[in-house]
Amino acid sequence: MQEKPWALVTGGGRGIGRAIALELAATGHPVLINYRANEEAAEETMEMIHRLGGRGEKYRFDVAEPREAAAAMEEILAKHHVAILVNNAGVNADGLFLMMPEKDWDAVIQTTLKGFYNVTRPVIRTMVRKRRGAVVSISSAAALVGNRGQVNYAAAKAGLIAASRSLAAEVARLGVRVNVVAPGLIETEMIQKAPIERIKEVIPMARIGRPEEVARVVRFLCSDDASYVTGQVISVNGGMI
Ligand code: NDP
Repeated sequence: MQEKPWALVTGGGRGIGRAIALELAATGHPVLINYRANEEAAEETMEMIHRLGGRGEKYRFDVAEPREAAAAMEEILAKHHVAILVNNAGVNADGLFLMMPEKDWDAVIQTTLKGFYNVTRPVIRTMVRKRRGAVVSISSAAALVGNRGQVNYAAAKAGLIAASRSLAAEVARLGVRVNVVAPGLIETEMIQKAPIERIKEVIPMARIGRPEEVARVVRFLCSDDASYVTGQVISVNGGMI
């Protein structure tokens, strides 16, 4: 059987990113994970991949930091042909816009949008050269409907959608597909402070989602089963919108 290509998952050490890394590893892809600070979680993800019989490597870098990301991407791409990229790394810094400090605006926009640029651009060049690749970026329901206290986050995640749709149009003829997954509320450390009981009331399925439920959709979009799907935004949100 032909070996499956390498996948790179940013923020793959924990939460949704870990679930995506494991899902891709379970379908036979060797997986590279990126993380920013939590070495222990990243190592745990690596062990989980190995337990599945998979292969993987972990890389520490801040996706928002141009020089750090460029050096890491150069190292990665010199070693591996990455045919699947999942832009999952993300942060929130919630608060009412009237009170929002500039640093909270910058942190969220930089991680999401500068991170998209810093990682996607080098990868997409190699994908286009090989005429093969799939990029999936993790946006949010907040980008589609807006959310009180998340002006920065919604703006960043909506930017990710617009960037992905435009990039999809640029590379569609070159064998590369670019899509977006927009999760609703998913059980990870990111939502620890969210008013879960109140939010559940507006979710038709009346529960929050699990990281694996996002990961399975990402895996589909990365696979040849989605060969005619590009420039799309798929919501995974229990029917919320
Ligand atoms: P977590 O906070 O659990 O995990 C975030 C991951 O991103 C961590 O692995 C973290 O690394 C990594 N990360 C953050 N900033 C950077 C950076 N600058 N460079 C590299 N890695 C970074 O979040 P989730 O798993 O919940 O979220 C994953 C994605 O899904 C995010 O983009 C988020 O916005 C999105 N999302 C989440 C929803 C939810 O309800 N949970 C809903 C909608 C979207 P480290 O471990 O080293 O800190």
